[in-house]
Amino acid sequence: MPRPIQARINLSALENNLQVARRATPARIMSIIKADGYGHGMLRAAGALSASDGFALLGIQDAMRLREACFRQPILMLEGFFGAEDLAPVCEYNLTCVIHSAWQIALLDAYPKNGAPSSGKLDVWLKVNSGMNRLGFAPQQAAQAMEQLRRHRAVREITLMTHFANADETCGIAEPLALFNDFAAPYRVPRSLANSAALLRYPESHGDWVRPGLMLYGASPFADTDAQQLGLRPAMTLSSRIIAVQDLRAGDEIGYGGLFRAEHAMRVGIVACGYADGYPRHAPGGTPILVDGQTTQTLGRVSMDMLYADLSKLPQADVGSHVVLWGDGMPIEKVARAAGTASYELMCALTDRVPIVV
Ligand SMILES: *Cc1c(COP(=O)(O)O)cnc(C)c1O
Repeated sequence: MPRPIQARINLSALENNLQVARRATPARIMSIIKADGYGHGMLRAAGALSASDGFALLGIQDAMRLREACFRQPILMLEGFFGAEDLAPVCEYNLTCVIHSAWQIALLDAYPKNGAPSSGKLDVWLKVNSGMNRLGFAPQQAAQAMEQLRRHRAVREITLMTHFANADETCGIAEPLALFNDFAAPYRVPRSLANSAALLRYPESHGDWVRPGLMLYGASPFADTDAQQLGLRPAMTLSSRIIAVQDLRAGDEIGYGGLFRAEHAMRVGIVACGYADGYPRHAPGGTPILVDGQTTQTLGRVSMDMLYADLSKLPQADVGSHVVLWGDGMPIEKVARAAGTASYELMCALTDRVPIVV
């Protein structure tokens, strides 16, 4: 019998969530499958999301794997190329590159004339920094970059893009949207601005390509709206079982550091899931957890391989009881909030030792 932890990936949930995005916008959908498809498996996610108009990720090896798996849509490299040696595969595999910095244009200029990218083979997305100050050209510099790319013999199609820092916050996107639109106004090229949050909340930002990630995996980007309200279904369910039960007396402590001390006699379930599986060690006692379909809470400190579930209100629960850490029946957003992190981080944190079940 294998250790009972597993992550079940629900492919029809991924398909459903893509449909939710479709219904929300007429724009083309660039599905974000970076970070191994937000922990769901890159090729697995791409397969379930194969009706997407494009895919976006980071590493050139992943992009090549995706092409070799016969995905013919545009593949966008979200950080573009990293060095001159990337340019040959970028062209050979017909990868679209974000251009976010002047050094990348210089690298394109310096590339040997007789090598790829020689003649109009490279599609680029010019990234404009609209206030996040992570990647992209400030609007004042972006005009020059645009001219350089328009004149560049290697470049075929140019798309203008930006990324919002606060689309999931209450302050909205008015300022960066206006900044980007002002810059883009003179150019008749495709535009892309929206992540999941902007796709769901700001139709005025949709442009020609939207770039959903999180919502496709079934989590809500918003603190005030849950995934179900948005029609989204969790694509990942991390589950395990109770492998031991401890009967505590008043005053007994549990776990490293004795962070939890029982005030009265109670039962505690030992769950086969710990931080070496990707469950956050910093999730405090009180983090919600589902045992046999009932919501209860964790207790004490998460160990490498185990954590503690409060069974005081679940007299039927015992060794073998089914536990959901997040996913079906236990929204990942709730766990993330309790643990002081984001659904994104929980999804990506799953470790290799957790078996994936489809
Ligand atoms: C990761 C990423 C996205 C997707 O963001 P979500 O919040 O997961 O929808 C979109 N655009 C860029 C540039 C990204 O890096």
